Amino acid sequence: MNALKDIWREAWQPPDRRPAWQWCEDHIEAIPYSPNPGRFRSENSPWIREVMEALVDPRVRLVSIIASVQSSKTTAPELTLCYIISNLPGPALWLDQTDEDARDYSESRMQKLFDQCEPVARLMPTGVHRHKRKNNAIQFNNGMTLWILGAHNKTNLQRRSIRWLIGDETWRWPLGHMAEAEARVTAFGWLGKCIFMSQGGEEDDDTHRKFETTDQREWTFACPECGHRQPFKWECVEWSKSARDETGEWDFDEVRRTTAMRCESCNHYFNDSDRTRRELNATGQFIKKNPKASAENVGFHWNALCAMSWGQLAELYLRAKAAARKGDVSLLQQFYQKRLGLPWREYVEDYKLEIVKSGYKRGETWEEEGAIDPKTGKILAAPLPERTGLIPLRFITVDCQMDHLFVVVRSWSAEGSSRLVWNERILTFTDIDVLQERFGVHSSLVFLDAGYATYDVYRECAKRGWVALIGDRRPVYAHKGRDGKTIQRFYSPRRKVVLSHRQHCHVHYWSNLNIKDTLARLRRNQDPAQGPTWEVPDDIDDDYLAQLESEQRVKEKGQWMWKQIGSRPNHYLDCEAEQAAAATMLKIVGRESIAAAPVDTPDGGQ
Ligand SMILES: [Zn+2]
Repeated sequence: MNALKDIWREAWQPPDRRPAWQWCEDHIEAIPYSPNPGRFRSENSPWIREVMEALVDPRVRLVSIIASVQSSKTTAPELTLCYIISNLPGPALWLDQTDEDARDYSESRMQKLFDQCEPVARLMPTGVHRHKRKNNAIQFNNGMTLWILGAHNKTNLQRRSIRWLIGDETWRWPLGHMAEAEARVTAFGWLGKCIFMSQGGEEDDDTHRKFETTDQREWTFACPECGHRQPFKWECVEWSKSARDETGEWDFDEVRRTTAMRCESCNHYFNDSDRTRRELNATGQFIKKNPKASAENVGFHWNALCAMSWGQLAELYLRAKAAARKGDVSLLQQFYQKRLGLPWREYVEDYKLEIVKSGYKRGETWEEEGAIDPKTGKILAAPLPERTGLIPLRFITVDCQMDHLFVVVRSWSAEGSSRLVWNERILTFTDIDVLQERFGVHSSLVFLDAGYATYDVYRECAKRGWVALIGDRRPVYAHKGRDGKTIQRFYSPRRKVVLSHRQHCHVHYWSNLNIKDTLARLRRNQDPAQGPTWEVPDDIDDDYLAQLESEQRVKEKGQWMWKQIGSRPNHYLDCEAEQAAAATMLKIVGRESIAAAPVDTPDGGQ
């Protein structure tokens, strides 16, 4: 009966109107396990303020936090739990991994925090009620019960009716346990709330699927130079490319010393210091990436860039990359999950993929190169028959800008291996004629990007029999097969563009997503034993290499896409994507290269 009286008294006290984070600043003397001694101060990690407000906002039913490790992602709900015990009591369940983990956690961390918060310490059972304070369950003097249990043990997720469910590191939970835990809260009614915290897990796991139902707020800063608001992006962290020792290995002291973060808009470089991060965080705001989500579902994401040295991150990244090149990707996986708070997928597009040079020089001929028999249209594999008139399997692709053009000449084998023969920045369409002549490329194997200077490109293509290409957002295009059935392909059927009564050219559209995925897969292999190889010469220039690292695969509004990183030039990447499109169209690569087996091997001339 006394307990009930206490509950009524608490209920009649005027609610504390201060935001939860401010209440915690006033009442939490110290965070026992924190590297920052003394009182809790939200300015040390300002992103947790909005998180803490959402945790106690009665309109919010779900809070999903995916963030880097050691950046207060568990601290925010822990501190808020103090506020809840004191101001919004109700049955609460804190879920760690196993029951043993939960017990350790309760003893070494959570209860120590409660001792540092006077309003909570006051509610702790003492004296004759001491038995109500156990490591796995605490019954507070205001009637609230808090269980601290393991999520792996399914019986912990059953029976109880819970107002406050807090689940930590959900990426490690067994499949389906998040949903089981949530059902406890549903049983409580409309006041119930689920709070999940995690580092990055795996693509499409329970944690990331849950996060996708939220408004996906991303921590951003405003550039002090140009005012542009932007997320903290790993792609904008850069270090000296020449930070290497005599043997060509990374010099990590030099890497750390030269690392800086670039504004994605004005290219101002921010030096790597706690002070810089404090200044940028002071302008911090969360921006919803999925504003159409239900207002009840709130998500927060931030990465280590707001809380940790960028130079240190660069070193971690480069060490992980070195391990990955030797076949162990686990460090790279951890970097993505723990530092960037991103889901790992087996097919991760690492945009800083390093291209290995392949032991030949630009302009050299290649004995693996295939050919097209103009009589049959068939593709012939090397060694080629002694016959004149065969068309070399060699494409010119061109990215057309306003006042200059980027060109790639690439030679292909009938099996889908390829070698870059030439690349160059040129000024006029006539320069393409020169290259076409020099490398003996057939006019119908010259492809020009018509996405930018569309009409000019159409006119030049019409004059010379070149083919226009336009990349767009469609994933596939419908083709009519011979039997009348529809075939979906990564490129469109040929469309005729009529320029005048005597001039016309042909244009194909190609899927930016699927063709660039194809290119990414081709690029990954330089070992002939592993399938078709994709090669560049020893004397390839740095501009080309840099441009090939200019885009990354990202998901926006639930859609995957290849997106330019900041304003990095990506012209050679587009040229190589057109090469992949052309090779797909000729069925040298892609699924139709296997299904149709168009390769015609010469009989060897018995
Ligand atoms: Zn700027």
